[in-house]
Amino acid sequence: MNIFPVKCAIALGTNAPGGIAVFQMACNLLQQHGFTVERLAAAIITKPLDCPPGTPDFFNSALIGTFSGSAEELLEITQSIEQTLGRPVDHGFHLPRPLDLDIIIFGDKQMQTPYLTLPHPRAQERMFVLEPLNEIAPDWVFPDSKKSVAEAYFILKKRL
Ligand code: ADP
Ligand code: MG
Repeated sequence: MNIFPVKCAIALGTNAPGGIAVFQMACNLLQQHGFTVERLAAAIITKPLDCPPGTPDFFNSALIGTFSGSAEELLEITQSIEQTLGRPVDHGFHLPRPLDLDIIIFGDKQMQTPYLTLPHPRAQERMFVLEPLNEIAPDWVFPDSKKSVAEAYFILKKRL
């Protein structure tokens, strides 16, 4: 349990027909669970990566804020929000993914367990994470690579 608020970055993704409305709902639910949302980045449209043919395009965004609980508690909250907002309004199966919330940065915490790795292990290779995060937190630093978000973003941009 952290007594002091920890600075956190969370990536958001959706490829359901409801579009980016779900991002604002996710912010509201995070707030209700005690996470203080400070900024939400503009959403970008991205082509599906490592998905079956015919997968709809994704919207991606990122938010930053503070949280006074543990990383595990935040994961429980993000997973419960994924479930709340991911429950299909109509009852079809194999619907597109309504909401993915990934914890990208949790202060300077570094950990690796089967259910939670921090910072997020693939964030620095994912343009759809770095581009929105760079808009709102370019000077935040990944505690493992020690690169700032802006550095990681421009390094990846040059490589792609
Ligand atoms: P992805 O986000 O890569 O598309 P999922 O959302 O299905 O995949 O994530 C699957 C698992 O990833 C979750 O059960 C969760 O326990 C684990 N996980 C590990 N590290 C993180 C993290 N930093 N943020 C969110 N989930 C994580
Ligand atoms: Mg996820």
